[in-house]
Amino acid sequence: MSESCIFCKILNKEIPSEIVFEDEVSIGFSDRFPVSPTHVLFIPKKHIESLDKLTEEDSGVVGRIFMNISKFAREKGLNGDGYRVVNNMGSNGGQTVFHIHFHLLAGRAHAWPPG
Ligand code: AMP
Ligand code: ZN
Repeated sequence: MSESCIFCKILNKEIPSEIVFEDEVSIGFSDRFPVSPTHVLFIPKKHIESLDKLTEEDSGVVGRIFMNISKFAREKGLNGDGYRVVNNMGSNGGQTVFHIHFHLLAGRAHAWPPG
């Protein structure tokens, strides 16, 4: 828990959000400013600043989150047309919230390379 972290506040229900997935170690909630018809953010319950700060000890939660995204996408029927999973790290990566998160983007084609 980081006092100033907006995603920790979402976890603690201090800030409202639409939580669409939860397990013991993570949640998924709708992005407030969606860039795709489906835009869900998956985060660990533990405050980890970014992919750069991931430790061996915490690495299991990332595998778990990818498993959750895969299952969630299949349950919602997003796997047929495909989807994109994004992690932004640091300023060149475009990270704006410093609690590690993975964007699930679906419902439209996503260009490559990204902007
Ligand atoms: P990033 O730029 O990768 O750090 O992504 C941060 C994401 O958090 C952006 O897509 C924002 O739209 C989203 N976001 C910021 N504040 C909120 C909030 N209160 N509820 C839901 N999503 C948010
Ligand atoms: Zn946090």
